[in-house]
Amino acid sequence: MCTIIAHPAQEAHPDRDAAARKRADRLAKATSDQMQDALAYLSVIDSEAFEIAFMAVPQAAADDTEDEEPIPLCATCRAPVGIFPEVILNWRHFRGATTASGIHETYDPGHAAAVAWYLPDEAAEEF
Ligand SMILES: [Zn+2]
Repeated sequence: MCTIIAHPAQEAHPDRDAAARKRADRLAKATSDQMQDALAYLSVIDSEAFEIAFMAVPQAAADDTEDEEPIPLCATCRAPVGIFPEVILNWRHFRGATTASGIHETYDPGHAAAVAWYLPDEAAEEF
């Protein structure tokens, strides 16, 4: 008489593609908080895997800024210039906030505004 006893064991040839798909599905459903927590945990239990994971994705440049809109400056005196429809529909020199919603004071420097557009980085380097 023969008795067959089934032992729970891992598959001899696990389906690695299925396992990878299952992990990709879990990743797709994870929130950014869950991903951050998972990476923080991975950094503790396997720092090498953590470093490999981060090398696989492009890193944001240190000097990346959200504010890359060109800004208008006077090419003659380098002062900020803007159009203030409530004053006159012409370029005017101004002091004060560089945002549209801030408080501005227009003034006459004795010359017409010569408008030139600069990216914030360029403006910081030149002036
Ligand atoms: Zn000027």
